[in-house]
Amino acid sequence: MNNKYKDDFIWFKGTIMPYGEAQINIMNTSAQYGINVFEGIRCYYDEKNQQLFAFKPYEHLERLLSSAKLLRLELKPHITIDYLIKGIQDVINANNLREDLYVKIGVFIDDEGSWSAFGPTGIYILAFPKGRVFPDKKGLNCCISSWQRISDSAVSPRIKSGANYINSRYGYLEAQMNGYDSTIFLNNNGKVSEGPGACIFMVRKGKLITPSITSSILERITRQSIIEIAQNELNIQVEERDVDRTELYIADELFFVGTSIEIVPILSVDQHVIDDNIGRLTSQLRGLFYNIVMNKKEKYNNWLTKL
Ligand code: PMP
Repeated sequence: MNNKYKDDFIWFKGTIMPYGEAQINIMNTSAQYGINVFEGIRCYYDEKNQQLFAFKPYEHLERLLSSAKLLRLELKPHITIDYLIKGIQDVINANNLREDLYVKIGVFIDDEGSWSAFGPTGIYILAFPKGRVFPDKKGLNCCISSWQRISDSAVSPRIKSGANYINSRYGYLEAQMNGYDSTIFLNNNGKVSEGPGACIFMVRKGKLITPSITSSILERITRQSIIEIAQNELNIQVEERDVDRTELYIADELFFVGTSIEIVPILSVDQHVIDDNIGRLTSQLRGLFYNIVMNKKEKYNNWLTKL
């Protein structure tokens, strides 16, 4: 068994405890039906100032609360964003973490019951070291998925729920089994949506283009940050609009963005080569992004929260 967290401390329902003591009932609604909501938050360690920073934790926690609201999960009245930030701080302190890391926070239904239950809800927070996702890869070779992205009229991709990753799993495993690194989904209108765990950007004729927030995507954090960095630092025009599949094939640059993946170039789609290397704009945006998250750009200090 993978026992990666066995020596760690977890924040479980408001209390710090050894990871092995945090237990759930296998018959609870979340374990039975995949009904849960969660967030992954990256934290970056600034060696020079010996300070750990969380990247946009308030926005992640806002999305967590929106996801819970959309699934009608009832949170106890004392569960506020500030309370959860304190939980994150406590679990990082308990594990004495001083490096780049990932905080996973999830809300689950803590009782045996039907898939229609509202609660009672429980929350856990875990923090563990995490570096780059594809340290040895220049970029990814992707295919267009034969699976359609989930849509707002069935299972909303706007909710960060564990069950949504069933769709990601279909697409990702199909891609892997066909020899690709990852996949890109189209939505129910046949337009480009997103990857299994990341939003997508394309560069065409000097413009940065990304599917709009009504294209069946998980809206928010890295995508919005990249849009602002491109506009404010590189003076680049950004379009949020419908994107056709064939536009990807003739894009000048393509890349995925997300909390976990950060910024990763896409080298080909359905064996149409985009670029053998990281593109110029992708590389500039990635450089700026890392400078910001690593506290090297004062103007963006308010994107970081000291922990
Ligand atoms: N789409 C999906 C399906 C994801 O899982 C993620 C990662 N959370 C993203 C997009 C990127 O979102 P964010 O930048 O807010 O992490």
